[in-house]
Parts: sequence; structure tokens; C-alpha cells
Amino acid sequence: MKGLMMDYNLTVDRILLRAEKMFPEQEIVSRLANGSIHRYKYGEFFSRTIKLMNALRALGVKPGDRVATFAWNSYRHMEIYFAVPALGAVLHTLNIRLFPEQLVYIVNHAKDKLIFVDKSLSGMLAAQEPHFKGVQNYIVMDDLHAEPAASLPNTLDYEAILSAGKDTIEFPTIEEGTAAGMCYTSGTTGEPKGVLYSHRSIFLHAMGISMTDSLAISNRDVILPVVPMFHVMSWGIPFACCLTGAKPVYPGAQLIGKPIAELLEKERVTIAAGVPTIWNVLLQHLQKETHDLSSLKTMVVGGSAAPRSMIEAYEKKFGVSILHAWGMTETSPLGTVSRLKKHMDTWSEDEKYKVRAKQGMAVPLVEVKIVDDENKDLPWDGSSSGELLVRGPWIASSYYNAETPDGNAAFTKDGWFRTGDVATIDSNGFMEITDRKKDLIKTRGEWISSVEMENIIMSYAGVLEAAVVGRPDEVRGEAPVAFVVATAEKKGTLDAKGIHDLLSEKFAHWQIPKLSDIRFIDAVPKTSVGKFDKKVLRKQV
Ligand code: AMP
Repeated sequence: MKGLMMDYNLTVDRILLRAEKMFPEQEIVSRLANGSIHRYKYGEFFSRTIKLMNALRALGVKPGDRVATFAWNSYRHMEIYFAVPALGAVLHTLNIRLFPEQLVYIVNHAKDKLIFVDKSLSGMLAAQEPHFKGVQNYIVMDDLHAEPAASLPNTLDYEAILSAGKDTIEFPTIEEGTAAGMCYTSGTTGEPKGVLYSHRSIFLHAMGISMTDSLAISNRDVILPVVPMFHVMSWGIPFACCLTGAKPVYPGAQLIGKPIAELLEKERVTIAAGVPTIWNVLLQHLQKETHDLSSLKTMVVGGSAAPRSMIEAYEKKFGVSILHAWGMTETSPLGTVSRLKKHMDTWSEDEKYKVRAKQGMAVPLVEVKIVDDENKDLPWDGSSSGELLVRGPWIASSYYNAETPDGNAAFTKDGWFRTGDVATIDSNGFMEITDRKKDLIKTRGEWISSVEMENIIMSYAGVLEAAVVGRPDEVRGEAPVAFVVATAEKKGTLDAKGIHDLLSEKFAHWQIPKLSDIRFIDAVPKTSVGKFDKKVLRKQV
């Protein structure tokens, strides 16, 4: 057939080339371990990335090899993000907060050949190093941490290999369907599972998240990804920055309230992205100390549900608009965002907040549906709830080398991925997660959404965090137990009765935790990526 479009491979090296040609003057900012700020421009980023790519080639890295990172968000990590895929190798971001045995499993399962490590994290890695099989070299990045690097075998210095690297721009021919990146799921059950991202999926996802009705990333934006570069590729933000020429601001290791507030203020950040825990801590800080956040137009919140109370508090007290998003390691991650549609402009404030607290509409190229236990499609009526299934060009089609026979059971024969999330979808196409399948609580034969209950408790004045899990109950089958964390000001003075009364406005009396099941704790245990770790709480009940 004549007159068709060009066969143009969607590969990561093309994103890199675009940044060099179009945005050499744009800045990239990073905070290092000693608190100092590093600045340079995309032009220099490009030439360093090329030298790094050539240095890796000289070290024997071949297309398809796995090259890992164990690092905070920084400009060097961004250089690796591009140098490794541009060489046809696979960028494997290791989660620095994993349990040691999971880290060992992942490094060996992925067969990582090299590991880049921040000097400040070298001690953590060195403790597990004797168990790693087949790692050829450790490349240490001096992030100006006060302590010397821990002793690792076969170490190389990042700056030394980079300055020895050639500056010839020679990319291998890469087919867009080959692997460019890999991440392991945080693995709440069983062994962590590996997800491979292709050049094409990374490219399309970068375009997808940049669209105006998605995260709306443009050349004019200054983006602070608090979400780590080891958590689903920092939600694809480094790639989207390079594609659009947005200015990234990498926060390094200090992710609590004040240091983040200072970066937002000083760098005039326009978009920030992270999990609810991060923004909750920042909210507490902002209530004590004033910062000028007038540049911040969007605070992207995902990874766990953003409670409506948080969305309202940011908007009403600080004029900051929260954009609620949903995704998974298997979905690159962006699946849905909750931006109001035009016809909702005339809705009441209450209706608008309700919609914005949902996880939102599927972004273009992602399809969603909900199904019942027999796998039949459920209606989009806002109340029927069932398992959420997704498909699209940046959704995984299998796990990497899944070892158990049912390791790929989440991928259906007709091309959908079963997320394990339970959700409703309303007539406007807005999806709302009611729970993880395994977190639902069944009381007297009826399901209770732990997420809904948590959100209500978190709207109670003086509550910082709340996590609800089920405990076995002779009469009710399961009964909910609410673990509640008070803000610093209210510690020791919050009363269970007030929370109980608030819940009774929304839940039937038999669904509500008993007063003795509303338990005050100092902090909700968190997973490696900052989500509530309900496994730990379940053990306590
Ligand atoms: P991970 O692969 O570690 O990023 O975890 C993905 C899971 O996080 C999803 O399956 C959801 O259960 C949960 N999740 C992500 N975003 C949200 C959100 N906005 N609201 C509720 N749960 C979320």
C-alpha cells in the first residue's frame, strides 16, 4: 500500500536528542546530600549522558544487559536514565527501601551487571553485596554525603568513568519494542514481580502524561518529582521533562516538610508529584511556617488515595490544587487522573470535591473496565463495584520471567490486566477505587470499603493518618479496626467517641468499629514506597 506514514521508532535516544537540540538552555536542578544545590543545563546534561553511554560501552555493557541504580533523585540519576536505554541496555531502578532479602532476590532475578550507587546509600548496599551474584562493578556517585563510601568490591567512580568516556554520538539501532527499563512491584504478597518497560511504552507514556488533561507538562513548567526515581520511574517525569523541555528539580534525600517547602518556594515549582504521606507531612509543616507557594499550580497525588479532606485543606488554606491520579508499576504508571470536565464547572463545591477525590478518568490510550466475580462487565453507574481491568500501550502484558505457573494469572487471555483493585466507574467515566481486593472487609456478609472509612476518619479535626483493617469477629465474621494517628498538636487528646460519631453519619451501626477498636498509634507503618502497610496492622489484630 502506498502513501503510508514513516516507520519512526519511538525510542528513548530520540527523546534525548530532542532535549539537546531544542532546550540546551533549560536548567536541571538537584539537591545533594549536604543540602547544596547543583545546577546545570540540558546542553551539559546531554554531553555528559553521551560520555556516560560510551563509558558503559567501554565497560562491556551490551544491548539487553541490566544496569541498576540504587540512588536518590538527582541529575546523575537522570543521566543514567538516558545513557542506559540509549545503549540498548535496560535501566533497572532498585528500591532503596526494600527488605534486604527482597533486594537480593531482585538483583539476582534481574541479573544486574552493574549497579550505580549514591555514596550516601553505599552502606546499605554493601551490607547485602555478598549475596549478589554476577554484579561486575559498583559505580559510586559522590553526592557530597559527609561519610566516606562503604567498601564494595570492584568500585569505579562515576565522574572518573564519565570523564574518560568518548563524546562520539553513536546510538545502536534499537527496535522500539525492546526493553528500556525495568521495575519490580513492591511485592506485598509473594516475591516481587518484574515489569519491563519498552522504548515505545516509555515514549508514549511520556507524551500521555504531558497532555493538558493529564498532568499538563510543558516547557514552561518547573517540576518537583518527590516520587522517587526508584518508584515506577518517578512516574515517567524525567522522560516527560526531556520531551517537553520542562525544568526538573530533584530533591535528593530530604523529603519531609520543610526541605520540600523550601524547594517549592525557591525554585518556583509549578508541578509537584508524590504520594499522600509526603503531602500530608508538608501540610502539617505549612500550618506552622509560611511559604510562598504561589507558583505551584498542580500537586499530583497518587500511589494511595488522596483523602478529600487533604484536597480541600490545600485548596482552601494554601490555594494549591491537588490532582488525584491512579496507577501501578504494571501501568508505567499513569492510568487515570481526576480533572473536572467542562460541564462540571456549574456543579456545587461539594459535588466537585467528590469528583476530584475519585481516581478519575482513564488518560488517552488507556482503557478501563470493571467486572464481577464471573468476569462479566459491570455498568458505569457509580455504584456497581468490581475488579478494575486495564489495557493500553503502556500496560504490561506479562511479568519478567515469572517463575510460578500462575505467575502471569493477572493477564487475561483477551488482553486485559487484572489490577487487583476494586472500583466503581460513574456515568462520566470517573473511576473510584474502593479498595485493594485483599483489603476489603466483610462484615455480616457485606463489604466495607476500608478506603472510604479511612477518608472519613482523616477528615476529623486533629487526625493525621488513619488505616482500617479487618479482624476476625465471631458475630460479624470480620470487624473493622481503625488505627488512628493524631497530629502533633492533638496527640493524647483525640477522642474515639468523636470519630465514632462521625462514622455513624456515613456507615450503618454494625459496620462501624467499636470504641475499643479505634486505636491510637504513633505512626501508620509504611511500605517501601510510603503506602500504608496493612499487612503489619493485620498481624496486630
Ligand atoms: P505500586 O505498583 O506499588 O505503585 O502500587 C499500585 C497500587 O497502588 C494500585 O493497585 C492501587 O491499589 C494503589 N494506588 C495507586 N494510586 C492510587 C490512588 N490514587 N488511590 C488509591 N489507590 C492507589
